[in-house]
Amino acid sequence: MASLIDRSGMRGRVSAHRIDGVGTSIFTEITALAVRHGAVNLGQGFPDFAAPDFVKEAAARHIRDDHNQYAASPGVPRLRQALADDWRRRCPGAPDVDPNDEITVAAGATELLHDAVLAIVNPGDEVIVFEPAYDAYAPDIAMAGASARAVPLGQPDWTFDPGLLSAAFGPRTRALLLNTPHNPTGKVFSRAELEIVAALCQRHDVTVISDEVYSAITFDTVHVSIATLPGMFERTITIDSMGKTFSVTGWKVGWAIAPAPLSAALRAVHQFVTFTNATPFQEALADILPIAARDGYYDQLRADYRRRRDLLSAVLRAARLLPLPIGGAYFLLTDISGRGFDGDADFCRRLVSEYGVAAIPTSAFYADPSAAPTLARFCFAKKDETIAAAAPRLAALASKNPP
Ligand code: PMP
Ligand code: GLN
Repeated sequence: MASLIDRSGMRGRVSAHRIDGVGTSIFTEITALAVRHGAVNLGQGFPDFAAPDFVKEAAARHIRDDHNQYAASPGVPRLRQALADDWRRRCPGAPDVDPNDEITVAAGATELLHDAVLAIVNPGDEVIVFEPAYDAYAPDIAMAGASARAVPLGQPDWTFDPGLLSAAFGPRTRALLLNTPHNPTGKVFSRAELEIVAALCQRHDVTVISDEVYSAITFDTVHVSIATLPGMFERTITIDSMGKTFSVTGWKVGWAIAPAPLSAALRAVHQFVTFTNATPFQEALADILPIAARDGYYDQLRADYRRRRDLLSAVLRAARLLPLPIGGAYFLLTDISGRGFDGDADFCRRLVSEYGVAAIPTSAFYADPSAAPTLARFCFAKKDETIAAAAPRLAALASKNPP
């Protein structure tokens, strides 16, 4: 049937140059393939298990209590107070943060990363990123009219060469985007590594945007916020989110902690991107944080994730997909070279369509995918049954495509 709307009226390009090269995210693409093929989805990072009851009850309570209208743009005051208290609990010895002008609540870390880059980076500036880099960083930097300078994290333990990092700083460097615990590698930056980053950022007067959304998910290692190092609070925007910590990625409540001048810049952008995000979920988080701190929630979360990690690790090993060691986050990487696939993207496409398991090709985290190692990322934020359901499918792969 002919369309009633004339779609031929636009001449020339309809999109702005700032989104040239911004395609569909790898997570959207792989999840769509997983749905189409009825696959076990170990691709996109989201829990498929229920959120804790105390978390859900808090949100339900605030919806019932008619917290339905706009929250204050920087976040509801009692949530900002709860986040300031939580910072004191998590970073003992670090200076307190002021909930009035050093904390901003927004629609998840994704919005805050975008806000932070737009707030401090000018066209023509450079932003240093460690590569592999989370998929949002490159578009955020490009939309600010800036360019990314990648510093490689090398296998097997994803360390960086301090010489290469130092060489990446130049007169146009405005910011450094850090991610610890790191997606996709599971690397947790050590204090010594953060000290190297901090010294260079201070020497070159560079601002750090530190993405710490997996701060609560670590194994046998301690998460250190770079903002707590001497001289760093004043030049760091620390971003975190309740999505991973409370298994509610769809609630989209994130926050940024930064000194007042950086927070003011961030708030200027946030005000006209979303202005504010869901009030009942913000109110809920204000209740949830003190309960979690009191009731051993974080130890339980780590223990649960350790079990899930070990379960997925055993399933992968049985399929002769050897997982690399991790320090945090909820992904395992396996080297799939020498298995008869034309790179990690081909592996993931065939894994989902022929064997019914979805995973993420890590080349999506590189500016030049052809230079990436051939690694597939499997998410273990999944029910035991989900991970177990992948076992026979991966075993089928192992028998057809042995190492
Ligand atoms: N940063 C990293 C490293 C992530 O893995 C994710 C996705 N979970 C985000 C940011 C986005 O977080 P949010 O869901 O709070 O927007
Ligand atoms: N952070 C999630 C991951 O790494 C995906 C989030 C998204 O789809 N934007 O899998």
